[in-house]
Amino acid sequence: ARWSIDGGWHGGELIPFGPISLSPATAVLHYAQEIFEGMKAFRHADGSVWTFRPEKNAERLQRSARRLALPELPTEDFLASVRELVAADEPWVPTAGGEAGEASLYLRPFMFASEEFLGVRAAQQVDYYVIASPAGNYFPRGVQPLVVWITDAFARAGAGGTGAAKCGGNYASSLLGKREAAQNGADEVLFLDSETHTAIDELSGMNVFALTRDGRIETPTLTGSILEGVTRDSLLRLAADRGLEVVETRMVAEDVLARVASGEITEMFACGTAAVITPIGEFRSPQGAWTVGDGGSGELTLALRSELTDIQYGRAEDRYGWLTRLV
Ligand code: PMP
Repeated sequence: ARWSIDGGWHGGELIPFGPISLSPATAVLHYAQEIFEGMKAFRHADGSVWTFRPEKNAERLQRSARRLALPELPTEDFLASVRELVAADEPWVPTAGGEAGEASLYLRPFMFASEEFLGVRAAQQVDYYVIASPAGNYFPRGVQPLVVWITDAFARAGAGGTGAAKCGGNYASSLLGKREAAQNGADEVLFLDSETHTAIDELSGMNVFALTRDGRIETPTLTGSILEGVTRDSLLRLAADRGLEVVETRMVAEDVLARVASGEITEMFACGTAAVITPIGEFRSPQGAWTVGDGGSGELTLALRSELTDIQYGRAEDRYGWLTRLV
């Protein structure tokens, strides 16, 4: 689906998926004035199709738009765009379960500066699209524990920068770390804060959590350089309702690794819309390697994962009103 703006929102149109044509002078190609969202459509057993907390994605897209000097898409237009695309693509929403595992339709709304000019300023003309793709497991090995590479060589996002926005530039700055991780046999990279290079921020596309032996669940405080994940927010709620002590705090990497080594931290996991909840089995850095717990999938991690996916796929009661029906 494509919507465009120059001066005001024009109605969306449904167009077949395919190449789009842009002038080489299009602003986004030079100054990266672009933002996006990631969501999923889930099919329930009765055939109906639902999405998870879409108003959170609408609000985050609006926050990202403000930071990137793009116009804010009103929540009702955002929801209408997603609804229209999923209605058209309904046959592509997989049926989950069995061989298909946790299959869903991944949705990618995005907005970019489509005006042609070479001067540096905010564009007056913007395009907004939503595309979709059936999605299975985010990692090729499924829910196998991740090996996570820790680097203090560079940060993904700086204080006062765009770290809390979901913009393409943040991902561009994370790619070198991801490549370095892969070269060291790791699945993912953990970025440290940009000011002191000591506290953990997040992975390249996921927030991070630790569970302790005495029933605490910890995640880094949103400092302005961490993306405010919808999954992160939902898990804080589920964890609190399970009676865990929820702590948002500064988590110094060295302390975290020492607590992993001593067994005080028993489980760690990464979470996001695409990755859902994936256990972290090992950290690696140029200084050494640390196994989390027994290196396997932690019990509480898997329990939180089931609790979340059961709600998303309609296998458990939607007790927080998190689901919105699309079809
Ligand atoms: N951090 C980053 C950098 C991400 O790209 C994502 C994925 N959107 C997340 C965290 C998790 O956010 P969410 O739970 O909303 O998908």
